[in-house]
This record gives sequence, C-alpha cells and structure tokens, in this order.
Amino acid sequence: MKKDKKNQPFTISNLKFLIEKGRLNFNPRYQRGFVWKASQKELLIDSLILGYDVPKLYFHDNPEYSAPDIDFQYDVVDGQQRLRTIQGFLEGEVKLPKEADDYKGEVLKSKKFDDLSDDLQMEFLNMTLDIVILNDGYVQEDIEDMFSRFNNGEPLNAPEKRNSLPGNFKNVVNDLANSSIFLRCILSKRGGAADAVAKILHVRINGSITGISAPALRKRYLDNQGITDKSPFVLETKRALNFLGRAFKASNNPDPRLKKWAILTLAEVAAEMNKDYALKDFEAEFANAFLKFEAERIANNELDDSEQDSTYSEVTNATRGDSQAFAQFRFDKLRDFIIREIEELPLKDSQRAFTLEQRQAIYHLGGGVCANSNCQKEVEFSEFHADHVLPFVKGGETKLSNGQVLCAPCNLKKSASVQDS
Ligand SMILES: [Zn+2]
Repeated sequence: MKKDKKNQPFTISNLKFLIEKGRLNFNPRYQRGFVWKASQKELLIDSLILGYDVPKLYFHDNPEYSAPDIDFQYDVVDGQQRLRTIQGFLEGEVKLPKEADDYKGEVLKSKKFDDLSDDLQMEFLNMTLDIVILNDGYVQEDIEDMFSRFNNGEPLNAPEKRNSLPGNFKNVVNDLANSSIFLRCILSKRGGAADAVAKILHVRINGSITGISAPALRKRYLDNQGITDKSPFVLETKRALNFLGRAFKASNNPDPRLKKWAILTLAEVAAEMNKDYALKDFEAEFANAFLKFEAERIANNELDDSEQDSTYSEVTNATRGDSQAFAQFRFDKLRDFIIREIEELPLKDSQRAFTLEQRQAIYHLGGGVCANSNCQKEVEFSEFHADHVLPFVKGGETKLSNGQVLCAPCNLKKSASVQDS
C-alpha cells in the first residue's frame, strides 16, 4: 500500500472511548525514556481549557496490530504523554495548576475534572485534538526513521533500523546490550551496544568467525525470529559478556582500549575459551593479558616500519574492518596471546591432552627445545611431545604452567619411569 496520511480531529470524548476500549496501543518502543512532571501535565490541561493550540498527535494504522475488520485501532506514535495526561485528568489524578486563572467566571485553581461545572466538563470532553493518521503504507522502519528525524535531527542508523525488524532477535539483543561490560566500552551512543551484541551473537550462531556486514546481520534477525533468552547461543553470549563485565569492572569509566573491535574479539575469545578451559576465576588474568597485548601492539605502532613486529602490525590492520579475514586474524592472535599469558589456566574437565593452542604456547615458550637438561635437542613442532611436568597420573593438571617440550625419546623414557615408580 502507498504511504498516505490524513489529518483527523478527535474529540477528547472520542479519545477517552478509544483508550477505554483498548484501541490505542501505547507502544513501548516509542517511549523516549522520560515521563512528564506534574507541572507539565497541569500546564497541558490549562492550555486545553484556554483553547491554546496543542501540537498534533501522530497515530499509525499499523497492520501488525490492527485486525483488518476493526477501524479505529492505532499505535500511538507521538503524543503518549499528552494522552496519558488527559486520561489522568479525567480520572482525577491530574489537576489544574494552582496558578490557573479563572475561566468564564469559574475558579480553576487546583481543580480536578469532577470539581468543574457540568458545562465546563462538557466543553472539555468536546474539545478536539488534531491527529495525523499514518496509513498502513508506513512500515515500522519508516515511522521510527521519521521520529528519529524529528527528535534527533538525524535519520536512523543501521542498528536502530534493525530494531524495527519483526521477531524476537531484537529483544534478545537489547537485553544483552544492558550487560555491564558495555559501560566500559567506547561505542557509539545510539545503538552501539546493541550493534556489538548483534555482531557477537551473529558469529556465535554461525559457529565460526565470519564476516559481519549490515545485510548479513539483517538476514540473521529475520532467520532467527524465534530465538529466546534460553537459546544456547544467547546463554553462551551472556556468559561471555558477564565474564568480561567482571574482568574489566575496575572502574565505571569507559576504557579507551575497549573499542568496538576489541569487545567483539574479546567476547568471541571468552566464549570459545569457556568451552575448553575453566576460565571462571581468571577474570583479572584475562583482563591483564588483553591490556598487555594492547600495550605491546600500541608500542609497536610507534616504531619505525623496519622495526615493527609483523603480527602486531597485521592485528592493527585487522582492527579496521569486520571482514572474515580481519575478524579471524585478530581472534586467533588475541586468543593465543591470552592463553599463553594465563599459565595457570586449567582445562575444564580433567582432560589429559593439551589443546592445540596450549601445545602451540608450550612449544613457543620452550623455544622448540627439549626440556630435558641432558638433551636440549631442537624439535620440530610436528614432532614434539607436550609433556606434563608433574605427570597427569600423579594429579598434574593440563595447564600451561605444567607443560613442557620434550623430544620423542625423552618423553618415552619419562613415561616408562613414571610407570615403573
Ligand atoms: Zn630430548
């Protein structure tokens, strides 16, 4: 249907009827997070009685809510506070201001609706308000865009537009966007946290690091309309965000190091590490590892090109976009760095084999040389054995601080002696 709007006057009595019949949807998505003060409410009632011009209200004949055979059923897009004030006045909860002048010989000071003369009550109920009715050619996104232009002087940005897509994805996103970690992040004020959550959740559902584009996110919202706060991906994301909230809670001020790329990457790293490692209780170590990584990366940027470490330079380059290659590169480097830094981090279950990341870290930390002081032979990564310093069978944990490089012969000798003892 074509977009169309018409001006239609409604009497206060008509509006009262529609409110009582539940025909006006005071949709919370248009709430701007403020409620009128008593003085503002009193002023509106006084203005109406004096016949002053009151700004137009906007209703939307929203096909999402109205049954086709019911006329006069609308979303209240703009004018909620005014309607609630009028309703409050009719119900005796709002009164006229104590400074109100007399009107037609009648004292109005602090009067409630029921205190007015019958004539004035009748006059009030017959007053008309100008309503602009937007037809069902307007979709939710048009309406929100229109009011964003009115209120902010700017069109909606991509995350705000996604907020008007159908289904539950947006609700799940908005809920997670309240996580305390976002108070510490440097994000855009308008929808920045929700945008970050949408991107994190998008990767979680995908199952591996993927490129993030506006059309892909939009499709994700549409393909996952039935998602709930109990969905495994949502729980996984929530757990990672809560972990980050605890890790970075030292102050409530935003930390300039927690930029968008950093929070996207850290959330994925925490979510993935949660699967293999008993990450809980390592909040401080996790945060410190990230801050150390950032300090080294930023120091590296200051060096002459010839002296720069290529890994850090490439991570810096990969902070400039969210393509698959960029997102994967910074994820890999940050995860490996963090795993390497937290030497005491144990595997989740008492699992005997070191993970690939742990093996890489053990090899790197051991310099690729057999740790047996009588041997000290260089070994290839593909050949080396990641050995438990205190043997697993004697209660040695599968964590970095209990891992060392051994060559195959030394490892065989060691396991034979452990079995003999
Ligand atoms: Zn050896």
